[in-house]
Amino acid sequence: MNAFEYSRAADVSQAVELASRAHARFLGGGTNLVDLMRESIEQPELLIDVTGLSQRIELQDDGSVLIGAATKNTALACAALIRERYPLLSRALLAGASAQIRNMATVAGNILQRTRCVYFYDDSSRCNKRDPGRGCDALEGFNRYHAVLGTSPTCIATHPSDMCVALAALDAVVHVTGSRGSRAIELTEFHQLPGDTPHIETQLEPGELITAVTLPPLRFARHSTYRKVRDRASYAFALISVAAALELNADGTISDVRVALGGVAHKPWRAWKVEEALKGARAKEAVFQAAAAEEFRHAKGRHGNAFKIELAQRTIVACLKELAEGARP
Ligand code: SF4
Repeated sequence: MNAFEYSRAADVSQAVELASRAHARFLGGGTNLVDLMRESIEQPELLIDVTGLSQRIELQDDGSVLIGAATKNTALACAALIRERYPLLSRALLAGASAQIRNMATVAGNILQRTRCVYFYDDSSRCNKRDPGRGCDALEGFNRYHAVLGTSPTCIATHPSDMCVALAALDAVVHVTGSRGSRAIELTEFHQLPGDTPHIETQLEPGELITAVTLPPLRFARHSTYRKVRDRASYAFALISVAAALELNADGTISDVRVALGGVAHKPWRAWKVEEALKGARAKEAVFQAAAAEEFRHAKGRHGNAFKIELAQRTIVACLKELAEGARP
């Protein structure tokens, strides 16, 4: 680990001003950044501690919920407002990491956490994300946890967050501030697919700070779920995860639906094709299966992860069946 300076920001403007220095990084709970520093993947010269910034969870006049970027994952998962209105988000948070890590990790840090591809953390391996142009040892190596949707020949890593899968399903908006002002970015657009530049993972400009996340009002999100399939019952990353919400009409057809997937792509994956196929359709298993198959029509599996293509479809169907049974008028 390299030597670095530490500074605690009193407010957003001070944090942004400090971040104008080259090689500065924002520090939240440090649950990923410190690992990256230990492996010399990140070598900041200045750490700007932003854990003293907003940890509010507030209902707004328009019915949306504002979440301060420094809110701890545990606090968000346990907030009555979230458990009542967005249970899939609470479940996703509680499915992530360990209690100790959830107590430290912040909302912004969760969004910005980097892949857990084993080759990314091993500097004796070839990794285009760590060293652009060097190659990717995961393509022919251990790729059980890797992506099957939106991949490129340069990188097949997955985004590790559970929370972000729920945020993608909920149309969450990420608010950021930098030296050129503030802007809002939809969560589904915030992370990027690898393309030819897997080292560029988000839409953030250098020095921009995540200040908050907002959840739009979504009445039927009260009827939602999050299911995570993994190798161990706890403290394991998702092989597949599904965040879903469902609303039925009185005649049993689907009036609205949200589905997002984790463990399948370089970013939290909104299953737009599933949603498109389901709106207005009858809520029955064969319809769910056809919709899930459409989402994975162009999926690309490899020797270690091809099983995910069927597993993901089965998990989508299981979640939708569970929600449909509970939503019968
Ligand atoms: Fe690196 Fe991505 Fe390949 Fe993993 S999958 S070794 S992160 S380039």
